[in-house]
Amino acid sequence: MLAPALRRLANVSWEFIRCSSESLSRCRPTRIHHDEMVIWARGLSKWTGQESMAESDSEMWALVQQEKDRQCRGLELIASENFCSRAALEALGSCLNNKYSEGYPGKRYYAGTEIIDKIELLCQQRALDAFDLDPSQWGVNVQPYSGSPANFAAYTGLLHPHDRLMGLDLPDGGHLTHGYMSDVKRISATSIYFESMPYKLNPATGLIDYDQLEVTARLFRPQLIIAGTSAYARLIDYKRMKQVCEEVKAVLLADMAHISGLVAAKVIPSPFEYADVVTSTTHKTLRGARAGLIFYRKGTKSVDKKTGKEIPYNFEDRINFAVFPSIQGGPHNHAIAAVAVALKQVNSPSFKEYAQQVLRNAKCMAGALLKKGYTLVSGGTDNHLVLVDLRPKGIDGARADRVLELVSITANKNTCPGDKSALVPGGLRLGAPALTSRGFQEADFEKVVDFIDEGIQIGLDVKRKTAKVQDFKNFLLEDQETVQRLTELRQRVEKFARSFPMPGFQDH
Ligand SMILES: *Cc1c(COP(=O)(O)O)cnc(C)c1O
Repeated sequence: MLAPALRRLANVSWEFIRCSSESLSRCRPTRIHHDEMVIWARGLSKWTGQESMAESDSEMWALVQQEKDRQCRGLELIASENFCSRAALEALGSCLNNKYSEGYPGKRYYAGTEIIDKIELLCQQRALDAFDLDPSQWGVNVQPYSGSPANFAAYTGLLHPHDRLMGLDLPDGGHLTHGYMSDVKRISATSIYFESMPYKLNPATGLIDYDQLEVTARLFRPQLIIAGTSAYARLIDYKRMKQVCEEVKAVLLADMAHISGLVAAKVIPSPFEYADVVTSTTHKTLRGARAGLIFYRKGTKSVDKKTGKEIPYNFEDRINFAVFPSIQGGPHNHAIAAVAVALKQVNSPSFKEYAQQVLRNAKCMAGALLKKGYTLVSGGTDNHLVLVDLRPKGIDGARADRVLELVSITANKNTCPGDKSALVPGGLRLGAPALTSRGFQEADFEKVVDFIDEGIQIGLDVKRKTAKVQDFKNFLLEDQETVQRLTELRQRVEKFARSFPMPGFQDH
């Protein structure tokens, strides 16, 4: 008969006492001494959770360090990326990860949330402060896990299934969540659960075609129109969009995901004057942890002319209910705290300087590219990014982004107005926010453009010698002379990049 402790042991780890049938007699469970069992069982309960990642998981630690090194030695030009501060990352890696707190401050489904309530309220207050909003007129939900769920929650709260909405088309610089669908497939959940109709850029100017939007809106009668972009270098005319919304009785939702840091710093126009609801990410120009925000109007919407009765906005309950319980479960309290830490920085004078420098750097990048004969969609920039139309140079975004990646410059291919293929589009999107967080100034961005141009020249030479994109990509790795040119350029790029400071932790 097995002793109870041994039986427990057998349940815990059958592997431990399992033997192949021929050796069964040699390792019968009954042969294990009681003392051995106690030592072994202690080993099982030795988990303290206090080892560092380096001690606990050297494989993952090595990968994190490799990624840290990649970020330090590269020139990061992806317009949606930024380098989060150490202070915010500390919140992200804190015990706040552990707490369940479904519901809202004061109305939670779990016990032990009194501190979590303070954290969420502090984040809300800082979010309203960052955009100069009066708490009697605007509220904010800080629980969305990221920008896409924030948008989906806003639509869910404001619309019924199959209601109609309009957003800038994805190939024209909109976002997937603004309703993207292809000819044969509804791609974004926004187009699966709602009926979406795109508006477009004017291909001649590269600017949003507000006239066409107006005409289409009159026909389509959307309940909601989205003003927001992911790859647009100009300012949005919120006033014009609000006029269209008023005419067709649509809600104006501004998605300021890319530009919220610039809006907070007041270096570009704010959507809050005209929008009913504003969504944002927190990790792009806002430079915080990855998360999302939904701002909504509250208070009095209008006064009934006949009765004199005040009609209030009804967004608050609908949006909060959509975020939880309709879409999400437990809030990411570590992310909410990290966003709050970032928003405190946003409210400081140094962030305003940062945002001003982002604009100067983007303008400088645009000017330097034009000087080298590049074509820019819309001819320049008013914000943090430039869209290069590479077609006149004789290359495309797919080839350019690969050749640049091989010399440690990260940018992304992007469609230009009139592009036929999304896989081999004509454009390249270049953003200034991340490198500006590393202290890059105008002269540094001129150097960055020199490096980009050198990379593109290599790309052009290789394109002349190859046919398809895949041949091009193979040639980059296989042709000895090209490999040498790339290596030499990459070494100069990395030496330059490494000489700048990097926000965050030293070693991870
Ligand atoms: C980035 C972006 C989003 C989505 O944000 P995720 O955090 O990536 O989900 C939504 N809208 C716009 C305009 C964006 O640029």
